[in-house]
Amino acid sequence: MKTTKKFKTETKRLLDMMINSIYTHKEIFLRELISNASDAIDKRHYLSLTDTNIASSDYQIVVEADEEKKTITISDNGVGMTVEELENNLGTIAKSGSKEFLEAVEKENTPEVDIIGQFGVGFYSAFMVANKVTVLTKSVKDNTSHLFTSEGIESYTIEDGDKEDYGTIITLYLKDDTEDEKFTDYLEEYKIKELIKKYSDYVRYPIKTWVTKLDPSTEEERKDPNFKPKTHKELETINSMLPIWKKNKSEVTDDELNNFYKAKFMDWQDPITSIHVNVEGMLTYNALLFIPKKPFYDMYTDKNDKGLQLYTKGVFILDKCKDLIPDYLRFVKGLVDSADLPLNISRETLQEDRAIKKIAANVEKKILAELSRMVKNDREKYEEFYKDWGRHLKFGLYENYGERKDSLKDLILLRSFNEDKLVTFSEYVEKMPEGQKEIYYAIGADKESVSKLPQMDLVKSKGYDVFILSEDIDEFMITVLKSYNEKPFKSINKDELDLIDEEEKKKLDELKEEKKEFLGSVKESLPSVKEVIISKKLVDAPCCVSASGELSFEMERVLKAQNQ
Ligand code: ADP
Ligand code: MG
Repeated sequence: MKTTKKFKTETKRLLDMMINSIYTHKEIFLRELISNASDAIDKRHYLSLTDTNIASSDYQIVVEADEEKKTITISDNGVGMTVEELENNLGTIAKSGSKEFLEAVEKENTPEVDIIGQFGVGFYSAFMVANKVTVLTKSVKDNTSHLFTSEGIESYTIEDGDKEDYGTIITLYLKDDTEDEKFTDYLEEYKIKELIKKYSDYVRYPIKTWVTKLDPSTEEERKDPNFKPKTHKELETINSMLPIWKKNKSEVTDDELNNFYKAKFMDWQDPITSIHVNVEGMLTYNALLFIPKKPFYDMYTDKNDKGLQLYTKGVFILDKCKDLIPDYLRFVKGLVDSADLPLNISRETLQEDRAIKKIAANVEKKILAELSRMVKNDREKYEEFYKDWGRHLKFGLYENYGERKDSLKDLILLRSFNEDKLVTFSEYVEKMPEGQKEIYYAIGADKESVSKLPQMDLVKSKGYDVFILSEDIDEFMITVLKSYNEKPFKSINKDELDLIDEEEKKKLDELKEEKKEFLGSVKESLPSVKEVIISKKLVDAPCCVSASGELSFEMERVLKAQNQ
């Protein structure tokens, strides 16, 4: 039976964009389809651990070009798809990522199609190079075979298929060449090899394609000037496969790590930093951790699940294992492969697993150690990191008070008023003039607005530096920290500054006594003010309004905004 169904509006828009408005990076379609094939094999392998009937010892992905038909096929012997899965994954049900991908791409002027994989809609990238796509599949779940066909943006059909073994064959019918675009290039052997090497080198299963080889010939034959060597084709594995996290740290170059990261996490930029961990002993595991340059599109949506990929003994278990990474480091991408976890570990038992807990603690330590190295020795890079991710560290400090305080507080940068650049607490303290006992901070958008605060005059007159807190989280963090190296934080917006000597204090008390009546009448005419005092924190300005108690004006504003 053959059924025809219509694509949902969003999928249609996505397909329309794929077909009509993307001009660059079309070659990534192959990476996306190979990555799906590899996922499908992972899934079959995982299921086969408990159902030996569906096991295979010969997992592979084959890419083939047919020059006459102008088709490329990508075949895998993975899980396959049931008819429901064909519909849900490729068909009617609007995929959640479609809308976000469209929005992300429409925001940019040049569509950055490279990132499509992040949105869970990579399959549709096939339509950048093909005007017809078929998916012939047989599922390990119900032993049925189906054929999905789509010729454009309106609709697709599903009918019974005749595939005998488990897996999926995707066939792309390439678009016709135009003056600007030669789709037939993708049929070339060298092109296919190049793309596999470039984007899929670290896929863990062999990716094979037909490669031209010379027929054997004798020395004698080759001497003949009229000799024309004959050729034949052999199916050859193109990718290197070896999981680089299993290699020794010293054998892996930065370039290899960067390429691995980009291929695995579908980013188009190198990561800011990579951390490669090999641990052997009581607990044995390898980990690769990456800090991306820019937030992924879903970073700040509620759909974003943090987590690291989990492998045990090289077998893929879970895509986002959230127990491996604390919330405040949710921007870290990577994977952990351990020999100490049972293969049948489930999401439920993971949480309780002691090995996982130990690995997680270790992973956190490694990341903090790398950040601490960067803050000291690689400042430019650290500031680049800090632009997007510093805020998370601040939240970490605020929420995690106690546990990670010591390592985290030295990773915080705040803007210094005197130097007009980002400095650490310890750099601030080192430059404190003799006699300064407290660390001063002011709430304000930038140096200019802070310099207008009347209270600044006194601090400036003493030559003290002031941290400018411009992010809403800053003050919460400072309040939680209370002090750094036994030097209390002091807000010049709200605290009465204790910067005067005994004699001045005495004078001030006398003045207060003398002006008692005046102060009382001012207070009466300003009913919303709690207290009117004579202050020494002003030098040039005649008066100022201060917040009292725990909350500053800024914090009150933030809390109010959050409660709305
Ligand atoms: P993602 O891979 O991020 O889920 P895709 O659009 O690339 O998004 O693929 C959608 C879904 O289609 C996959 O999650 C998978 O369930 C299914 N799928 C795609 N290709 C295959 C394949 N070769 N074998 C089995 N399932 C596949
Ligand atoms: Mg995919």
